[in-house]
Amino acid sequence: MRRLWARLPSVSLQAILVISFVLVAAIALGLGLLAAMLVSGPLRLVVALAAILIAALLAVLVSRYLTGSIQALIQASRQVAHGDLTVRVPGHGPRELATLSQAFNATLETLGADQRAQAERLASLEQLAAGVAHEINNPLATILLYVDILRQEYGQKDRNLADLEMISSEARRCKRIADALLDFSRRKPISPQPTDLNALLQNVVQVEQRHEKYAPVNIVTDLDPTLPLIQADPAQLRQVLINLLNNAVEAMPHGGRLSLRTRQQPAGLVTVEVADSGVGIPPENLNRLFRPFFTTKPPGQGTGLGLAIVSSIVRQHHGQISVQSQVGQGTTFTFSLPIQLPEEIVAQ
Ligand code: ADP
Ligand code: MG
Repeated sequence: MRRLWARLPSVSLQAILVISFVLVAAIALGLGLLAAMLVSGPLRLVVALAAILIAALLAVLVSRYLTGSIQALIQASRQVAHGDLTVRVPGHGPRELATLSQAFNATLETLGADQRAQAERLASLEQLAAGVAHEINNPLATILLYVDILRQEYGQKDRNLADLEMISSEARRCKRIADALLDFSRRKPISPQPTDLNALLQNVVQVEQRHEKYAPVNIVTDLDPTLPLIQADPAQLRQVLINLLNNAVEAMPHGGRLSLRTRQQPAGLVTVEVADSGVGIPPENLNRLFRPFFTTKPPGQGTGLGLAIVSSIVRQHHGQISVQSQVGQGTTFTFSLPIQLPEEIVAQ
């Protein structure tokens, strides 16, 4: 049947509708009249029924011709929503829908190429990050070791002790940055297991809100009680939540509202929303947020790796993340995850 549609000439949807309705009405009328003229008695009823059946069959065929490409587009959009950019729709059917299908395919082609290029750039950046972090970690360990030795040699009252403390705390700061680099570059494959996202979120909130910076923040949770267990790596999702929560709180240094929401979505997805009433993000920064090393925080306070790690983990889970923000009003990060991961990932 599909091949037959493919061979039909591409005509305007409006033309098809007009022609088909005229045709169906004419055939039904003609056959009805014929039946009335030619036959009499019970046969008249049979011929009239046949006329209606033929008209209905024609209507079904025409509507299938019209809706076939729409169905294909709907199906393909669902697959794209699940992160599959390799899907394509057949570009036949009524002219407008054929054009729409071709535009849809072209968009996916561009998105796929962008995604591949970005993945390659990210891979080389990760390699660089891992190399640098390893190289820096060794001398840092040596510095910290010698600071400890000197501390013991100087004794408690030595006036050089404060200087040593400074060296030690700065060296530890460097180590934290090097560790963040390693976290970012060491993309471990995920180990999925049935995960209760609501419980995980509650636990992260409980642990994180002990930090001083959470004190002026009012945390509001709205968790979907019907949320199913999802196949995910809880340790890695914890990283995602910690990073999003910390960013939100850091955007509200004078306090504000942090709203956390989970929802089950149709099409086998769950979403988590982390919304703050903080400083917001200027539009020109929105598409740079997930790039490694992008930060607006003063030196020493931000590595610019948090959101790069978040997006990498969400992608590994076949999920998606998006952000909406208004300067001065606040920011909402929303990520979606499939309830079920593809077989090959679960089997790993
Ligand atoms: P870092 O927190 O180390 O700066 P991230 O990758 O976590 O690195 O975030 C990158 C940048 O994105 C931040 O420096 C900040 O400018 C911006 N950002 C992230 N989350 C928020 C938020 N909730 N509100 C405002 N800005 C944000
Ligand atoms: Mg951060």
